[in-house]
Amino acid sequence: MQQAKKSTPTGAGGNLFIISAPSGAGKTSLCKALLERFPDIVYSISYTTRPPRGNEKNGRDYFFIETEDFEKKLKEGYWIEWANVHGNYYGTSRDFLDNYLSKGRDILLDIDVQGTRRILEFYPNSVTIFIMPPSLETLRVRLEFRATDSVEVIEKRLKDAGKEIEQRYIYRHVIVNDNLDEAVDRLISMVANYRSGL
Ligand code: 5GP
Repeated sequence: MQQAKKSTPTGAGGNLFIISAPSGAGKTSLCKALLERFPDIVYSISYTTRPPRGNEKNGRDYFFIETEDFEKKLKEGYWIEWANVHGNYYGTSRDFLDNYLSKGRDILLDIDVQGTRRILEFYPNSVTIFIMPPSLETLRVRLEFRATDSVEVIEKRLKDAGKEIEQRYIYRHVIVNDNLDEAVDRLISMVANYRSGL
């Protein structure tokens, strides 16, 4: 059984780690490495109306739902936060979050800046981490190399990236991902410190 924590940064039991980054900054790889290192951290699987990309799986990467369903859940108050990102809806289940936090579990949220602002209203002590790409040009190269998005989608994501980067100051920590191994090490030691109550 999980021990009660020494500190309860969210005031609800567990730590809430929020990671945001512009598309292509390497956030998925960083989150994956973090969860491999700490398998007991619960990853909050978001809901989205965007279609699955590449080998993404429903229920593992996202819950892929119809716009109508998303809007219905919105009316029902299902989302603790939601946002329209790059033209699609994304949302986090309120019950999921409250339930795991109250059990003392640490949670990882991979959400955008709008969602982060909203979560901070409920959980102001969330540990917020922004991942920066070394440059916008690097982002373009990574998005083009990934080859999972159309040219129009890539352009939209690059435009949004500039706006997101301007808001990095609302985050408690910023990690520049110019070298993935180093960025992983920084992220893991940062999270380890919070988990040990330092
Ligand atoms: P992608 O489509 O590349 O997977 O994600 C696009 C953006 O949506 C990323 O910045 C990601 O962090 C954000 N995102 C994913 N899930 C959620 C969510 O539940 N809420 C919010 N606000 N943003 C999300």
